[in-house]
Amino acid sequence: MGKKVLIIGGVAAGMKTASRLRRRDKDAEITVIERGELVSYGACGFPYYIGDEVKNFNEFTHTPQGIARDVDYFKKVKGIDVLTGHEAQKINRAAKTVTVLNRKNSEVTEMPYDVLVLGTGATPVRLPVPGADLEGIHNFWFPWEVLKVKEEITANNVTDVVIVGAGFIGMELAEEFNKIGVKVSVVEMQNRILPQMLDLEMAELAAKPVAAAGINLYLEEKTVAFEGEGRVAAVKTDKRTITAQMVIVAVGVRPNVELAREAGLAIGPSGAIAVNEYMQTSDLCIYAGGDCAENTHRVSGAKIFAPMGSTANKHGRIIADNICGDMVKYPGVLGTGLCRMPGVEAGSTSGSRQHGP
Ligand SMILES: Cc1cc2nc3c(=O)[nH]c(=O)nc-3n(C[C@H](O)[C@H](O)[C@H](O)COP(=O)(O)OP(=O)(O)OC[C@H]3O[C@@H](n4cnc5c(N)ncnc54)[C@H](O)[C@@H]3O)c2cc1C
Repeated sequence: MGKKVLIIGGVAAGMKTASRLRRRDKDAEITVIERGELVSYGACGFPYYIGDEVKNFNEFTHTPQGIARDVDYFKKVKGIDVLTGHEAQKINRAAKTVTVLNRKNSEVTEMPYDVLVLGTGATPVRLPVPGADLEGIHNFWFPWEVLKVKEEITANNVTDVVIVGAGFIGMELAEEFNKIGVKVSVVEMQNRILPQMLDLEMAELAAKPVAAAGINLYLEEKTVAFEGEGRVAAVKTDKRTITAQMVIVAVGVRPNVELAREAGLAIGPSGAIAVNEYMQTSDLCIYAGGDCAENTHRVSGAKIFAPMGSTANKHGRIIADNICGDMVKYPGVLGTGLCRMPGVEAGSTSGSRQHGP
């Protein structure tokens, strides 16, 4: 019998680990626990579903040959057990088990592991302001949020959208809403667009074609409330009130570290799970990768939270190789990002002066 490898989280880091491990080790018993219903989807293209550049949502969840990357696919093609609708509730390190809740029938089981991998990802930040629970206010992170946004644009005849946060997801979405004729206003607390990526001089250059395309950029403005009866009708900032039938809150994400913290694993200074250069946590039988795991900046050596799909996939590959005994080192990240906006594409490596090393 092969070693029992339990993986929590079934998107980028988790599924990359599972698939790579299967390629390397035909005997390993690989089980993925995922609380959602979809696995192995590509979130990076989600904004392009809004502007119909990606016409069919299946493109995010299917292989290029059109086969769904679902539970059956992973079982039949790769010999990997994927349990969707299952939530890992507790890691019992002494017994080397994970307490798992089947959300479909409320059954709780203890699942044993030889090696455990945490690929629990991140959760979008919500704005703690009055009216935050009104209908029509969305994050744009999980697949169901993306589908809901798309559906509501037509169902609610959305003509005005406010995007809170001018990071790369906010700016990519600004382009897509603009493309389908929705009036876009972006509200950003800092003095520039893409504040983590660009310094002021470059951000001002990049903002010119964006504004020329008709996108309102309200910089150095703080969102203080959402207004409306049942459904959002306006966004109040500290300087103005903006009409909106829909709001996208894209103000960043936080790593999902609760399971790790409760199990006594070390959390790093960035707030993500501390890992060594082999992607092992403070318990060497437990690896962590993707958005939940801390990264080292390759220039400064600083411990940073750098949630990127590209990084999550690299982590997954290295974790699988190290489970096979290779002990490959992950050198860290440079903080490279690219963003397409109307009339301009911006990219940077190592971040802006304020956010970089
Ligand atoms: C709109 C959008 C655009 C993006 N664009 C880019 C881009 O251009 N380039 C780029 O590099 N990255 C991009 N990203 C980021 C990228 O998608 C993430 O960095 C990547 O998905 C992280 O993968 P992950 O496996 O670490 O975590 P996730 O994708 O968050 O997956 C973690 C999974 O773990 C599950 N989980 C958590 N806790 C438990 C538990 N206790 N039990 C069971 N399951 C659990 C969650 O349900 C989730 O499905 C984008 C993201 C979005 C939303």
